[in-house]
Amino acid sequence: MKLRANQYLCDLPVYQPGRPIDEVARELGLKAAEIIKLASNENPHGPSPLAVEAMKRAVPDVHRYPDGSSFDLRRAVAKMHGLDAAQIVFGNGSNELIELVGHAFLKPGDEMIISQYAFAIYEIVGRLFQAKIVEVPAKNYGHNFERMLDMVKPSTRVMFVANPNNPTGTACRREELRELILTVPDHVLLGLDEAYQDFLAEPLDSAAFIRPGQKPGRDNLLILRTFSKAHGLAGIRIGYGLARLQVAEVLERVRQPFNANALAQAAAAAALNDNAHIRKTFIQNQEGRARLEAEFRRLALDFVPSFGNFVLVNVGDGQAIFDGLLRKGVIVRPMGGYKLPAFIRVSVGTGVENERFITELLKLNLSSTHKKKNT
Ligand SMILES: *Cc1c(COP(=O)(O)O)cnc(C)c1O
Repeated sequence: MKLRANQYLCDLPVYQPGRPIDEVARELGLKAAEIIKLASNENPHGPSPLAVEAMKRAVPDVHRYPDGSSFDLRRAVAKMHGLDAAQIVFGNGSNELIELVGHAFLKPGDEMIISQYAFAIYEIVGRLFQAKIVEVPAKNYGHNFERMLDMVKPSTRVMFVANPNNPTGTACRREELRELILTVPDHVLLGLDEAYQDFLAEPLDSAAFIRPGQKPGRDNLLILRTFSKAHGLAGIRIGYGLARLQVAEVLERVRQPFNANALAQAAAAAALNDNAHIRKTFIQNQEGRARLEAEFRRLALDFVPSFGNFVLVNVGDGQAIFDGLLRKGVIVRPMGGYKLPAFIRVSVGTGVENERFITELLKLNLSSTHKKKNT
């Protein structure tokens, strides 16, 4: 072949998304309606109804380009967080913001610090920009902030921290997070990924550290938020970053002009303040998560207590259990890609979905699984 793609792309890890329902239906000859997907931490109760109405209203105008400044959505997000409108950068999902960080802050040889079991996209983006990835061993499946800070060097440009973390579901105490935000050296951008913030009972108001006039403030903090999880808008791809002006301005510079599409802007603005939907999602997630964890406990399966809308559980042979569940029309996520081959990650579903998952799990051979020692 005459064409030559960039050599470093050859060994770039490939992101493995949750299997789509239609694809599994085609492959197994099942009806899509018989399949449940608990693989991508989506909202099992659907999108915010207010967002659906807003999208319907926006449809007749989709022959127009979207508002490249996301004016209405920007104003709504700014108000919610008590920030200036210029502090917000929108993305085609918050994943795009992670890539924008690469464009703006990484060049070959720069270092990026992440934790073991961090969200896979951080490493993929880091390697896309030929950064050196420094992976710090996890502590009880969570982040070890002390050691992550120890690894900071003059060549460190970026540190990514998801809280709660995906795929482990761990979260740190508010005090620890506050300490981290205040301690990360000025030359390191801290990408604080709060994709699962809405599932925390008492989250830290991290935006306080970038709020105008508020002290102590941080110029190197970038908070990432998404509408894909609690707001139920994963399919239309919209997320945002919050930062002080210097960071927001460089990210604005590297984004494409219409990266937040018109339907997404309309839906997100409506979903943002749909407190009823967010509240219901929160409560039902707590119930469903408790149900799953209680069952894992009953089965003596080792799991990581979760602060998100999913649970990481040791089933012995994650791939085999994933395959077995898939054949029954239950899609979960195998964790081999995260070097956790004994585990699956299951998203909290509706009550009916959770029971279906449990029923099918019980029919599978869990005998070979690593069980919790009875101490
Ligand atoms: C789901 C998730 C996101 C959100 O991605 P979008 O591109 O906004 O859909 C970001 N970070 C983490 C850790 C996630 O699990």
